[in-house]
Amino acid sequence: MMKFYSQEAIKLEKKYGANNYAPLPVVLERGNGVYVWDVEGRRYYDFLSAYSAVNQGHVHPRILNVMIKQASNLTLTSRAFYSDKLGLAEKKLCDLFGYERAILMNTGAEGNETAIKLARKWGYEKKGIPINEAVIVGVEKNFHGRTTTIISVSTDPVATTNFGPFMPGFEIVPYNDLEALEEVLQNPNVAGLWMEPIQGEAGVYLPEEGYLRKAQELCHRYNVLFMVDEVQTGVGRTGKLLASDYEEIKPDMIILGKAISGGFYPVSAVLTSSEVMDVFQPGQHGSTYGGNPLGCAVMMEALDVLIDEKLTENAYVLGKIFRERMSQLCDKTDLLIGVRGKGLLNALLVNDSEDSSTATLICYELMKNGLLAKPTHGNIIRFAPPLVITEKQIEKCMDIIEDAVLNFELAEA
Ligand SMILES: *Cc1c(COP(=O)(O)O)cnc(C)c1O
Repeated sequence: MMKFYSQEAIKLEKKYGANNYAPLPVVLERGNGVYVWDVEGRRYYDFLSAYSAVNQGHVHPRILNVMIKQASNLTLTSRAFYSDKLGLAEKKLCDLFGYERAILMNTGAEGNETAIKLARKWGYEKKGIPINEAVIVGVEKNFHGRTTTIISVSTDPVATTNFGPFMPGFEIVPYNDLEALEEVLQNPNVAGLWMEPIQGEAGVYLPEEGYLRKAQELCHRYNVLFMVDEVQTGVGRTGKLLASDYEEIKPDMIILGKAISGGFYPVSAVLTSSEVMDVFQPGQHGSTYGGNPLGCAVMMEALDVLIDEKLTENAYVLGKIFRERMSQLCDKTDLLIGVRGKGLLNALLVNDSEDSSTATLICYELMKNGLLAKPTHGNIIRFAPPLVITEKQIEKCMDIIEDAVLNFELAEA
């Protein structure tokens, strides 16, 4: 067979695809655990993990086996019939995360759309909000996906410019600002408060201590549903099963996606109480592939792998080691100003403006040295390796990062 080279693959995407991403110029063809290989056979540490979808590592053998077995048996029934997997999958989610009910969708955006629809319907039918007046409150710098409704709450001009008109019924408050939040929640038409517990895409912004707990208290006081998007932060990524666990909050709804299916197959879910879930009646919401047996089987195994291999605990321990070493690195160079994060969701802050290309150039240097990471903005690099990474491997990766940063600084000087 003819060898397929990077340049040809890149040319094909450029010619026939959409230009809606700016990939690093590396063409991957194989993955295993923390590693991926390009078509020329070069090996890299994956420090993006497909935006935290591959927490269990690439091509995890247990998930692979279950996927093959289920794919040979039954893949899709639609929800017109029951399947032998859906109830088990829903029970697994409810037991593991401590909720009464679950609804399965496919992408994170769809999970969030589902949560919005639940909150609005709950607002009209349980809270007594006048029809079509429900408000959902989001926070600045949020990221919840790419649908026209979801971007209506975005404050990022890149995500919104020329995509209007936008969906009404949303209000935006500054992040970490409890006063502004309390003011807006006093509007009796507010059905839900919707936020990420740590803002991943924005650049790994952490809430001030106590913010989430106070926000939850305010939601209870004003009879507003607290909807927490754990699509990126959930499933062990931050060193707890949910990032919400850091403040011991129990949101009225959580939205999960990405790593709940270990990178094999798109599965998302909304978990909530019976009171909220029961606002959905037959025909009112759905998805052809949502909750299909293949997705359910893959998800159940991916969650078992997370528990059996203690990946959450590993993320907690290695995250501390990572941030400690990176903050020492920040002391050694003027190029970096800090590191922040929880567990293995971390960001290195580059001493340059948001519209600079410095973070991208550092990522090129990292790539040359065998480590793949992407900037979230011109001056923030996110580091999120698969949670199966070992201490020895992460030590090696920190050497790569340190060398790349110091070399880059020398070359610039
Ligand atoms: C990635 C992400 C989404 C969107 O998930 P998709 O599967 O890409 O639709 C939603 N919310 C958060 C917090 C995310 O990180």
